[in-house]
Amino acid sequence: MAGLYIHIPFCKQACHYCDFHFSTGTRGREEMVAAICREIALQKDYLAGETLESVYFGGGTPSLLEVADVGRIFDAVHAHFHVADGAEITLEANPDDLSPAKIAGLAATPVNRLSIGIQSFHDPHLRFLNRAHSAREATDCIRLAQDAGLTNLSIDLIYAIPHPDHSVWEADLGKALALQVPHVSAYCLTIEPGTVFGNWLRRGKLPAPDEHFAAEQFERLVGGLSQHGYEQYEISNFARPGWYARHNTNYWKNRKYLGVGPSAHSFDGAGRQYNVANNAQYLKAIKEGRVPGTPESLTPAESANEYIMTSLRTQWGCDTGYVQRQFGFDLLQLNRRYLGNCQQQNLLTIRDGVITLAAKGKLLADRIAADLFIC
Ligand code: SF4
Repeated sequence: MAGLYIHIPFCKQACHYCDFHFSTGTRGREEMVAAICREIALQKDYLAGETLESVYFGGGTPSLLEVADVGRIFDAVHAHFHVADGAEITLEANPDDLSPAKIAGLAATPVNRLSIGIQSFHDPHLRFLNRAHSAREATDCIRLAQDAGLTNLSIDLIYAIPHPDHSVWEADLGKALALQVPHVSAYCLTIEPGTVFGNWLRRGKLPAPDEHFAAEQFERLVGGLSQHGYEQYEISNFARPGWYARHNTNYWKNRKYLGVGPSAHSFDGAGRQYNVANNAQYLKAIKEGRVPGTPESLTPAESANEYIMTSLRTQWGCDTGYVQRQFGFDLLQLNRRYLGNCQQQNLLTIRDGVITLAAKGKLLADRIAADLFIC
């Protein structure tokens, strides 16, 4: 079983923190949809006939598509791939696009899961982030989707937004719980170079991120959601039992996926391919019947390090037996002393050769993964 990712490279406006690939406005939308359909045909053999277990419309802002565009893309998918019965079909959406008509239209397509970019239920924070929606729209769209039968909902939240105390973050978590969404993805605000926040930081208009404040908010997140029955199955992802995101879980488990659209990545089990992150160049190549993808073959050490980085973030942990079989490295032997120290500090556990981060270790996940990297 494999996954299909479809990148829709349009947004209404640039959020101040975002460094994803998109252009503002939807000029050329129809041409882009046609090109994506063409790429789906060109890439039909990439997954070697594997059935699709998940399809994910990401971006950018896929909810800027017309419902008919979604239908057109699905016609192309069904023409060239076998989609499993009950496959998870997710579309990322922003609250300001989710009118009652749009939700009703989407509910009539194969889309059966929405991932909604809420980020905050607090208007001043939404303005600070330069989001295009209000707190009211955030709440309303969740209720509208639930009323339309789209109950498989995930919402994105951002924590560590500068504020004198934790009151807004606690209110955001309370709101998410009250709305009874089964899946929450929560990300720490990071400041990326080249973004508006990156420029503000460089010019002293924004304070440097406060790691201590972020750690306190992360603890509130984990504590608050776990008290209400959510499982932290990946460091940033929480779900009620039975509501894990299948598409993302497959990334973390190193399964195959095809990515189509500008800037999309693919993985065929052995190597990766990166589509050009430029809309005009993408359209030109597809028009010429070429996939504008750059293949990247990873060394065994690079592949092992990718696996260590992603698997350590999950509840399934890093299976050192898999690392040995797949890449030829004995992680336990190579890091015997370091892992012993981490166990003593209650940062992780090792059971049947699987390294799993403990609560304290999750705060240091990137550092621990880097320490385990094979040089
Ligand atoms: S966060 Fe989402 S909506 Fe905002 S600019 Fe980035 S891709 Fe677009």
